[in-house]
Amino acid sequence: MNKRAKAISFKGQVSHRHEANPLLTEPGATVLVHRGVDRSVAMACPDGCGEQLTINLDSRAGPAWRHYGDGATVSLFPSVWRDTGCGSHFIVWRSKIYWCDWHDEFEVPSDEVVKRTLELLTDQLVSYVAIADQLGLVPWAVLSACNRLCRSGLAEAGKGKQQGQFRRRS
Ligand SMILES: [Zn+2]
Repeated sequence: MNKRAKAISFKGQVSHRHEANPLLTEPGATVLVHRGVDRSVAMACPDGCGEQLTINLDSRAGPAWRHYGDGATVSLFPSVWRDTGCGSHFIVWRSKIYWCDWHDEFEVPSDEVVKRTLELLTDQLVSYVAIADQLGLVPWAVLSACNRLCRSGLAEAGKGKQQGQFRRRS
């Protein structure tokens, strides 16, 4: 059970999905499939079940994840939730893997990210994804900042259908 990977091991980029297979050697091993545009991310399931995942990045080919690569790390949005096989549910942010069922805590965001997030909060609920898009940041960074602002009493989170939305606390 504790064979779960805590981080992505990035193996590089290929042009075709099948070329990734021999590189997916251990849980969390990850390859970017790029042909003109980002096509997909191939990953050896990080829970160690031995299956390979193909995470679509190309919206022309169906529901697509967003990939944020900064050359050194990999981030994916939204979370990856397998509805078959092992049922793994995890978040990839800056090449770290956060297991949703373990309620892994995000790393603490920088003061700068927290400050810029707070500046965009108003008295109306707004999605952390919309704030991230405005700031050009990975949504996980802004979610992490919003959580911190809630803990310090400066913001509050929406509930129920408004989960994932935040506003400034008056
Ligand atoms: Zn698995």
